[in-house]
Amino acid sequence: MGRERRAVIVGGSMSGLLSALLLQRSGWRVDVYERVGEELSGRGAGIVAQPELIARLNGLGLRTDDLGVRIARRQILNAGGDISDELDCAQVATAWERVFRLMRQAFPDEQYHRGRTLKGFTQTEGGVTAHFIDGDVTADLLVGADGIRSTVRQFVAPDVAPLYAGYVAWRALIAEHRIPRDTRDAIFDIMSFGLPPGEQFLSYPVAGPDNDLRAGHRRTNVIWYRPADEATKLKWLLTDAHGREHDISIPPALIRAEAIAEMRDAAERLLAPPFRALVRLIDEPLLQPIYDLSSPRMAFGRVAVIGDAAFVARPHVGAGVSKAADDAAALAEALATDGDVATALMAFEAARLTENRRIIEWARHLGAYLQATKTQAEQASAGRHATDAAVIKETATLDFLYA
Ligand SMILES: Cc1cc2nc3c(=O)[nH]c(=O)nc-3n(C[C@H](O)[C@H](O)[C@H](O)COP(=O)(O)OP(=O)(O)OC[C@H]3O[C@@H](n4cnc5c(N)ncnc54)[C@H](O)[C@@H]3O)c2cc1C
Repeated sequence: MGRERRAVIVGGSMSGLLSALLLQRSGWRVDVYERVGEELSGRGAGIVAQPELIARLNGLGLRTDDLGVRIARRQILNAGGDISDELDCAQVATAWERVFRLMRQAFPDEQYHRGRTLKGFTQTEGGVTAHFIDGDVTADLLVGADGIRSTVRQFVAPDVAPLYAGYVAWRALIAEHRIPRDTRDAIFDIMSFGLPPGEQFLSYPVAGPDNDLRAGHRRTNVIWYRPADEATKLKWLLTDAHGREHDISIPPALIRAEAIAEMRDAAERLLAPPFRALVRLIDEPLLQPIYDLSSPRMAFGRVAVIGDAAFVARPHVGAGVSKAADDAAALAEALATDGDVATALMAFEAARLTENRRIIEWARHLGAYLQATKTQAEQASAGRHATDAAVIKETATLDFLYA
């Protein structure tokens, strides 16, 4: 018997926990280090749980029968409120928090270290030492699962940076019981799209607080993608009432009243009556500029980057979490096959690089028609994915990617 192999995982969110659980299962001693001091919660609202993710969770022995709200159908409503297209499509809509809790409860508390921030690391032939603000930890493997602004990636691939997609998403959750009856009947159980020119509105049901799946206690998840040129409109949207310009995102409470008023006015002009009713019910919208990111490599000696630290897809594919799960599974598999960490990481990278690039590219194609400015190639691709038929079939499913 060899000595126990040790892994340090930086980032205790989706990809961190997924890789922690999988590596632990194959006999590694795993410690997760998360920068945030409190238990993570409430990131993003709805997540379409792809079958690939559900299969991974089941493979870890986690119960998924009450993972979220089951959706059977999709529809597109034109501005007048008529159904212009519909499609049977069975999916489960869950919440980020639900998937997080499921995995967090399955991982030992004493190996999940909160309030620990990585500031750098050093590698030698025999190991890798992670330098946290409050001390060092040495291991055989370091996994950077630390998200789009990854500290780990900044050391190994400093030139890689998130790329603004040219549009923003307004997001909100609305309690089911507040939605008027006629609006609920028209859209609640259905993934519903509105397609004003160059924009996309989307609503679908998710669980209520504490994963409440009872009728009347659920919520509608609203996402409205709107073009915003980086130099002008995005700058305006990210400037708060005190004139302070925010970088990358703006806290909901600081979004200027004029920006919210403009969005509400546009809803009255552009959206179908049930969507207008939803927008009127939004108390405090979130504003999320859309970025993506593509890393040229994922393996750097004894260091791997996975999940959003390596590749961030625009949200239209609904692949964020299932992609993280596939990265984590490929990592654990490669390390189980080869005893040499650096060699195993090369095999992991070979298994995931092409696949992740395809997901990022596919998401770019799907979102091209939402961009404020487009290149000629984007313009050509935009047309193909902007029709009712394409949007209803291609959004939030991995089927086309694997077809
Ligand atoms: C605000 C938000 C909303 C989202 N909404 C959706 C959604 O609706 N649908 C969907 O499919 N996906 C969504 N995503 C994306 C999805 O959550 C990610 O694709 C998925 O969580 C995989 O991410 P990850 O674990 O790789 O990174 P993240 O979830 O970003 O986690 C990275 C973790 O690393 C920690 N960290 C960062 N730097 C350090 C450091 N130096 N030291 C220690 N820890 C560090 C962070 O605190 C964080 O907890 C959202 C992500 C965010 C952040």
